Amino acid sequence: MPIRRLSESIVNRIAAGEVVERPASAVKELVENALDAGARRIDVTVRDGGQSLITVADDGHGIPRDELALALERHATSKLPDDDLWSIATLGFRGEALPSVASVSRLTLASRPRGAAEGWKIAVEGGRLGGVEPAALSEGTRVEVRDLFFATPARLKFLKSPRTELDHAVDWVHRLAMAHPHVAFTLGDGARTPVRLSAALSRLDRLAQILGRDFAENALTIDAERDGVRLTGHASLPTLNRPTSREQYLFVNGRAVRDKQLLGAVRAAYMDFLAVDRHPVLALFLEVPPAAVDVNVHPAKTEVRFRDSGSVRGLIVGALKHALAAAGHRAATTVAGQTLASFRTGGYGGYAAPASLPRGMTEAAAAYQAPLMQAAPSLPPAAPEPSVETDVQPLGAARCQLHGTYIVAQTSDGLVIVDQHAAHERLVYERMKASLANGGIKRQGLLLPEVIELGETGAARLVERQAELAELGLVLEAFGQGAVVVREVPALLGQTNVSGLVRDLADELQELDQALSLKDRLADVCGTLACHGSVRAGRRLAPSEMDALLRQMEVTPHAGQCNHGRPTYVELKLADIERLFGRR
Ligand code: ADP
Ligand code: MG
Repeated sequence: MPIRRLSESIVNRIAAGEVVERPASAVKELVENALDAGARRIDVTVRDGGQSLITVADDGHGIPRDELALALERHATSKLPDDDLWSIATLGFRGEALPSVASVSRLTLASRPRGAAEGWKIAVEGGRLGGVEPAALSEGTRVEVRDLFFATPARLKFLKSPRTELDHAVDWVHRLAMAHPHVAFTLGDGARTPVRLSAALSRLDRLAQILGRDFAENALTIDAERDGVRLTGHASLPTLNRPTSREQYLFVNGRAVRDKQLLGAVRAAYMDFLAVDRHPVLALFLEVPPAAVDVNVHPAKTEVRFRDSGSVRGLIVGALKHALAAAGHRAATTVAGQTLASFRTGGYGGYAAPASLPRGMTEAAAAYQAPLMQAAPSLPPAAPEPSVETDVQPLGAARCQLHGTYIVAQTSDGLVIVDQHAAHERLVYERMKASLANGGIKRQGLLLPEVIELGETGAARLVERQAELAELGLVLEAFGQGAVVVREVPALLGQTNVSGLVRDLADELQELDQALSLKDRLADVCGTLACHGSVRAGRRLAPSEMDALLRQMEVTPHAGQCNHGRPTYVELKLADIERLFGRR
């Protein structure tokens, strides 16, 4: 065969293979175009997972009539003003998206520039351009993509279920929406509208719209700079975590990226606070001088390359660690626990005036004294001194609960502080294991069955595992589209946050190998179940409940640490307390 030039339509179709991997990538490209056009409102439709129809309508600056045909030509763009690939300020720049999508679908591009009296449209089918015709539309642009991949049947075969493809499209719209909080977005499939985002006032508002109020209330604010690179955003406290890293959103100069190196930096920062199989929720935004980053690695533009990746990693790890260290008491207890451990191993000996105590100890002392003193007035006036038989009750007698989270117990020669949530989690795990081995887990019916909206993928995933979940004590069934109804829960959980539990499980199942039974992954599943049990942090416990928890801990194997490897309690001997006060 002689060498010949490939036709434009073949070239476009080859490019489409890279740019338009699946319907969601077409949605992404079209929404990016709308954002580049300065849209304040973007409405997306995705029918049959995007296979039969995708539309993206915006109120941006529009395309003049005489540029409509050009917009569909390969390598035609309005966005590379100085032909400078090192100073890219827009999401698009390659001039490939429209021609690529058009080459594998039936596409109509309609637009009415701002201030223009009328709109015009042009249609392309299998790469062949039609003529420009008048179109009725308000100011802005509307792209309609029908029968995506009809021209490339091989690609059609790789598409997942419409539900999964829709989920991918939703995910992309969410990502773009996070980076553009002031823009309003909707995404509907004709029947439902899984994305409905009004223009948000701030980035945190937008994140709350997408990730939930829970996130907004449990997020640390990140703001750091190094070598001209700025990192901002919000990251969850370690206590708000997920079984997968799916809810970690990373952006570089407003562009959503999925970069292994950056995800690795996040993992490193949280390493001391989370078990390897738990992941924080976060949205981080890097602002990098355009010349210090290359977004031109791949046509889909989701990979980036930094000139100094070590420095970027350092910035992320440092900023997150700093914010975590400055944050709440969950981290502080770990630190205190380590400090206390060093007391007992004799790392500190002899008398020292309190003023000269190492810093960590002084803080530990303060951390433990302050809450005790606050709690004192609410103790019963004449609480009898409990008699504790240390041999039988090494964890002592419960005296009070602090901050709805910690149980303070008096032992014969000191005190024990229990993290009730962590302890409970461990107990649930060990008991589930034992009951499974002994003929099954007891279930408890819900007075009111609870309906939980999960999106179609999540719901289907749970329903598929219905029988296995029932074995673990969780009885649920499908409820209309994208929801499940929960009828029974494992009895040993007590009062449960059913919706949080089921959501987490759905997440978890996504990661789980289909071939593995839930029993094989019991540790993970139980961890998720227990996380939503009755004794979770924040709940007030009656004295008898506190004592019951201590007694259970004493007879449960491995009760000294929770499923994530954190301690469930710390012990302070009287001798240690005396040292803290310089009495020894
Ligand atoms: P790129 O975005 O890389 O420039 P595209 O093929 O996505 O390439 O788009 C080609 C051109 O069409 C853009 O540069 C822009 O001028 C125009 N265009 C595409 N979509 C829109 C839109 N929604 N609003 C205004 N102009 C658009
Ligand atoms: Mg584009």
